[in-house]
Amino acid sequence: MRRMQTLLKTYRDDFPILQKVLYGKYPLVYLDNAATTQKPRQVVEAMTEEYYNVNANVHRGVHFLSQKATELHEASRETVCRFLGARSTREIVFTRGTTESINLVASCFGQAFMKEGDEVIISEMEHHSNIVSWQLVQARQGIRIRVLPITDDGRLRMEEYEKLFNERTRIVSITHISNVLGTVNPVRDIIRIAHEHGVPILIDGAQSTPHMPIDVQSLDCDFFAFSGHKIYGPTGIGVLYGKEEWLDRIPPYMGGGEMIKNVSFEKTTFNELPYKFEAGTPDYVASTGLARALEYVTSIGFDAIQAHERDLTAYAIRRLMEVEGMKIYGPSIEEHDAVISFQVGNIHHLDMGTLLDRLGIAVRTGHHCAEPLMRRLGIEGTCRASFALYNTRQDVDALVAGIQRVRQMF
Ligand code: PLP
Repeated sequence: MRRMQTLLKTYRDDFPILQKVLYGKYPLVYLDNAATTQKPRQVVEAMTEEYYNVNANVHRGVHFLSQKATELHEASRETVCRFLGARSTREIVFTRGTTESINLVASCFGQAFMKEGDEVIISEMEHHSNIVSWQLVQARQGIRIRVLPITDDGRLRMEEYEKLFNERTRIVSITHISNVLGTVNPVRDIIRIAHEHGVPILIDGAQSTPHMPIDVQSLDCDFFAFSGHKIYGPTGIGVLYGKEEWLDRIPPYMGGGEMIKNVSFEKTTFNELPYKFEAGTPDYVASTGLARALEYVTSIGFDAIQAHERDLTAYAIRRLMEVEGMKIYGPSIEEHDAVISFQVGNIHHLDMGTLLDRLGIAVRTGHHCAEPLMRRLGIEGTCRASFALYNTRQDVDALVAGIQRVRQMF
């Protein structure tokens, strides 16, 4: 573990923002990584370099810069393809993030394969993006949303899952890791069971991609969504992986440049995959940033990242439990990913978050875009500490000391 600490110290230096001192005296303790991660120099510098030396619109120009920008953009797609273990770059669609990826599937799959009374299965622990996207389809097409319930300790009730399938089930859409509870869902089983019923499945990988290796072929999911900014990449870019057979069969999401082959006022034909889903100028600089971020993570390796984050999460849960009145939501240490939602006595989460901030500690407060889950837990919100590869046990100690101080004030 000492070697790991030294190793991670080196990586910490890649993130200049972590040197920041808040309110003139408190070193930043950044524990809001489930919302967004900080960016290493490698990512920011690659993007700056592209803006300074390459910038030109992609796919459209015969001139030098446009070709260079196109090469970079398509090389980034190949990096994403390798990172996810996809079969081909035709299966990698650049979007603005997980939200857009899920909306794309809900909207286009819904349009092609769902009619009134057809059903989608989601779960009680979904982020709003995986609820509201389907509600939009519901409003338009009268589909039915079936919800897989959770246990009191925040696990999917798998014994109920099978019971939700019937002849009207068209798709399953479930999160890999809960952004509130840190629960790592048994997605292999979830995917297998969906397929046994002949139903395709979308996995929301927003919270899993930063913490564990993903292999979409081995998982055998039909769609997989993630956001660049949660895995040390830039904002405004994300990915939808889709099996070619599905992407081929669903209609485009938006119309515009890039996504067409030929346009006339009578009839338009669409571009090949993945461009059929990429209308308009893509964020080709962000795709470079995302590729550098994925390379960065890969160069450290998920073995090291997971070992470190597991140690940190277990340490944090143990230390937090020392605080009087502490309630931690979600499963036990072994099944808990690097997200910890907590509540201390009857101190309002907003007060806790605000006072921790005054000590330089950034945590998230509120419903974490999961209001139905909050309702299930019988609460309004929580404080949430979430870890990244650059967090340390000192960060956890600072958090616990901060909470103790806040507690004394109340
Ligand atoms: N799904 C989960 C599980 C998330 O945690 C988030 C963001 O917090 C999202 C979806 C939405 O991600 P984005 O806002 O990057 O589109």
